[in-house]
Amino acid sequence: DKSKRKAIIAGNWKMNKTPSEAKALLTELAPMVKDADCEVIACVPFVDLTVALEATEGTNIQIGAENCHWEESGAFTGEISAKMLAEMGVPYVVLGHSERRQYFGETDETVNKRTKAALAHGLKPIVCVGELLWERECDITEEVIARQIKLDLFDVSAEDVKKTVIAYEPVWAIGTGKTATADQAEEVCAFIRATLAKLYGQEVADAVTIQYGGSMNAGNCEELLSKTDVDGGLIGGASLVAEKFQPIVAAAS
Ligand code: PGA
Repeated sequence: DKSKRKAIIAGNWKMNKTPSEAKALLTELAPMVKDADCEVIACVPFVDLTVALEATEGTNIQIGAENCHWEESGAFTGEISAKMLAEMGVPYVVLGHSERRQYFGETDETVNKRTKAALAHGLKPIVCVGELLWERECDITEEVIARQIKLDLFDVSAEDVKKTVIAYEPVWAIGTGKTATADQAEEVCAFIRATLAKLYGQEVADAVTIQYGGSMNAGNCEELLSKTDVDGGLIGGASLVAEKFQPIVAAAS
């Protein structure tokens, strides 16, 4: 039953917005989404976290990071640990985004390590999965997704899986303006829930928020969000402008 799950609309800012721009956008957005029925999250670059947390204090916007490392500290130049984010009071973290898998060597093994570290430090991970265009064309979408779900969540307890958000992001739909149809999105989101049910039981599967991501916007969000197993969205491009993000939040409310 969909109504038992929390709808979550999360912006994924990627490598956009300086700290001053982040403050301006969140200050503009906060009054626009204050009556939202869904959870509203902005996942922002590491350097924006401090101002983002300040600018959203006392609002219903929650802040997320876009990645974290699995070690608590050490010789990992350029990395940020889950422990650091937890101390800052960051509640969410995006993990395994396809851009990290494609450009920065992220694998299911490292996504799994990051996921476990995030959960161990009390962060709620938004774990991204999704097939490439040629994988869809070869008709192996379900194999790809099942493999990612199994590996990315390997050794994560049922209790922790309930705290995890899954974002289904078909790679061919990200930043391309090519959205999956609502039926395509539902098909894979339902498959993800069925896979979770097999691994963790139906009660856990029914509790997990599954988002769709990939060129979601004001025009297509309503139909996507109306689907039984689509509990929210992970929004890239349309999260960078308050007037474009607000209607998506409204559609999920
Ligand atoms: P997009 O990005 O909305 O710009 O397609 C979504 C994402 O990558 O999370």
